[in-house]
Amino acid sequence: MTILNGKELSLKIKEDLKGKVSLFSRKPGLVVIQVGNDEASVVYVRNKEKTAAEIGIKFIHLHFDNISQENLINEINKLNNDNNIDGVIVQLPLPNHLSEDTIINAIDPNKDVDGLTNINVAKLINDQDSLVPCTPMGIMRLLEHYNINISGKNVVVVGRSRLVGKPISMLMLNKNASVTICHSKTANLSDFTKKADIIIVAVGKPSIIGSKMVKKGVIIVDVGINRINGKLYGDVDYDKVSKKTSYITPVPGGVGPMTVVMLMENVIKSYEKKMS
Ligand code: NAP
Repeated sequence: MTILNGKELSLKIKEDLKGKVSLFSRKPGLVVIQVGNDEASVVYVRNKEKTAAEIGIKFIHLHFDNISQENLINEINKLNNDNNIDGVIVQLPLPNHLSEDTIINAIDPNKDVDGLTNINVAKLINDQDSLVPCTPMGIMRLLEHYNINISGKNVVVVGRSRLVGKPISMLMLNKNASVTICHSKTANLSDFTKKADIIIVAVGKPSIIGSKMVKKGVIIVDVGINRINGKLYGDVDYDKVSKKTSYITPVPGGVGPMTVVMLMENVIKSYEKKMS
């Protein structure tokens, strides 16, 4: 069994990005908008800020305890028109009074470094060059790094979120996998997972994938993050399942670190497009 070491690969990518940015005529600019005080968001924003600083990306954290939809859209419009800003993301989840769809689609698609606007989603579906959500992109890069062939493989994605499940399914399809998407209404999940060559699980429930649910030699990408008594676990019963896998991502140290560097790569992509 080989561990898909996202931590190691992300460090290498970070160094490459740092070298690239050092040659730029100005620092690329990333703005993270946070509304409210969601506990997990605070940790994620801090993590992004640290990585941006390491690479040489200017990081601006716009934090509102509370803001109306109209005022938030005004703020986004200002950033859309600011030539020194290359990436804008809105940290999810948003408080209930804000429409996630409306807010996300207020971001200029060229600065949508989370790849969530309708325009970037449509481009992904049509396999056109676009800004792609960071976690799915990180998964693809990790598999590519370990020379894992996707074409013709039977891929089962568990979870259908706009951030992970749906875009990774599309990326896999674009690479000629046969993709099955499972979710909370799927009957007999293991009927699907048992047949999979590659399983990507993004649910947020520990041990939702057990060893009897997978075939020998399977490749598993565990996206889940579950905090139990201060320790992080994925969605896979790692100790038992890993014995049957050919490749598996650990949690932590698998998909998580890849996600953050892919965000920075998207900011740099957006910068380069604007400056070209
Ligand atoms: P999400 O929006 O809550 O989506 C969860 C998905 O899991 C939904 O599609 C849901 O189905 C499905 N689901 C729930 N219970 C299920 C069950 N019993 N069987 C099959 N599917 C089930 O979550 P997300 O944003 O995709 O995140 C998923 C996990 O990944 C979380 O733990 C999150 O913290 C983690 N995550 C990690 C990273 C990283 O960088 N490592 C990045 C993003 C997310 P329905 O659609 O039917 O409700």
